[in-house]
Amino acid sequence: MFVYADNAATAKMRACALRAYEETAKNFYGNPSSLHSCGQRAKEVLEDCRARVAHILGAQPREIVFTSGGSEADNQAILSAARFGAKKGKKTIVTSAIEHHAVLHPLETLEKEGFRVVLLPVGEKGIVDPKDVAAVLDESVCLCSVMLANNEIGTIQPVKEIAALCKEKHILFHTDAVQAVGHIPVNVKEIGCDYLSVSAHKFGGPRGVGVLYARTGVPLSPLIEGGAQERGKRAGTEDLPAVAAMTVALEEAISEMPAAGKKLTVLRDELIEGLSSIPHSALNGDKEKRLPGNVSFCFEGIEGESLLLLLDDKGVCASSGSACTSGSLDPSHVLLAIGRVHDVAHGSLRLTLGMENTEEEIKYLLKVIPEVVEYLRGFSPVWRDLKEGKRQYIL
Ligand SMILES: *Cc1c(COP(=O)(O)O)cnc(C)c1O
Repeated sequence: MFVYADNAATAKMRACALRAYEETAKNFYGNPSSLHSCGQRAKEVLEDCRARVAHILGAQPREIVFTSGGSEADNQAILSAARFGAKKGKKTIVTSAIEHHAVLHPLETLEKEGFRVVLLPVGEKGIVDPKDVAAVLDESVCLCSVMLANNEIGTIQPVKEIAALCKEKHILFHTDAVQAVGHIPVNVKEIGCDYLSVSAHKFGGPRGVGVLYARTGVPLSPLIEGGAQERGKRAGTEDLPAVAAMTVALEEAISEMPAAGKKLTVLRDELIEGLSSIPHSALNGDKEKRLPGNVSFCFEGIEGESLLLLLDDKGVCASSGSACTSGSLDPSHVLLAIGRVHDVAHGSLRLTLGMENTEEEIKYLLKVIPEVVEYLRGFSPVWRDLKEGKRQYIL
């Protein structure tokens, strides 16, 4: 059996998106900046997509900037707010300890340039407490950035409450909604955010395209200069086929959201319940306040990488929270932030489901994962020490 359970890394492109991509590339090949009719027709498609995306997010079309994806949107929001803040002598940025690297890395760069970055704790459930936010918002803060839903442990953050706290103190608020848009309801007006990041390939659109929502009047400077595209906020000839494909993918994701939410919650909870019966294992993140398709576990005494490779042999595409594969031995900052110690954090597994996953696949996962975990523990010196009482079980 083949099971794709890595939808949070990237989701398969929807058939409607593939069609829209091809048709737009074929029929609207003009450059939207060209004055001739061919360019103007392309421009009309672009503006139609902008209006449709804006409508879904609860924004005005002029508040939508098409970007190359979630990473670019995160970088642009953060750097725009930081530059503006610096001019007013406000050089503190508040964020959570579990943000995506597309938020954390630009903040590290800003730190080197003299900004102060305050990391909010998330507790063992993986959720920011608005009280902790209120406690650190002072005169020196120019921006607060807290993600809507976490990509590793799926936890959903109280962004509406946090946005309200920021608004009260005239502090800009950005939310990375990449894992949320197309999966749970997201409306910029309801949240009350100033900036919001979206990426198409997490909801069945193409890679390399996304959206930055920037509320009218907020500071916004281009990361990429060289042309007047996107009202001067993002130079470069627009990737119209990608934008058109993203738009239809988003519309389809929204229309199937109620059904998908129900189906994935059932499959998710079945997986969580089944995996919980593996001895010395634990669910990562809150059981209820999490994305419908997200299952994240730690298994004591094993390495997540070995688990992934053996699961791959059995046809299962999953992911691990640890960053070993990317050449570093540091475990995931998200798992450390929820209090998992290094050894335990290394034994993590993330399964992220999509509409194509079936009940049979869940049964298969619940058969192979316990087998593989037991097999790996048979070789593990850590597990032997635990069994012989030379080490204390943590989970
Ligand atoms: C995937 C992801 C990103 C990056 O989006 P890209 O379009 O791949 O650049 C940013 N934030 C979160 C939470 C993500 O899951």
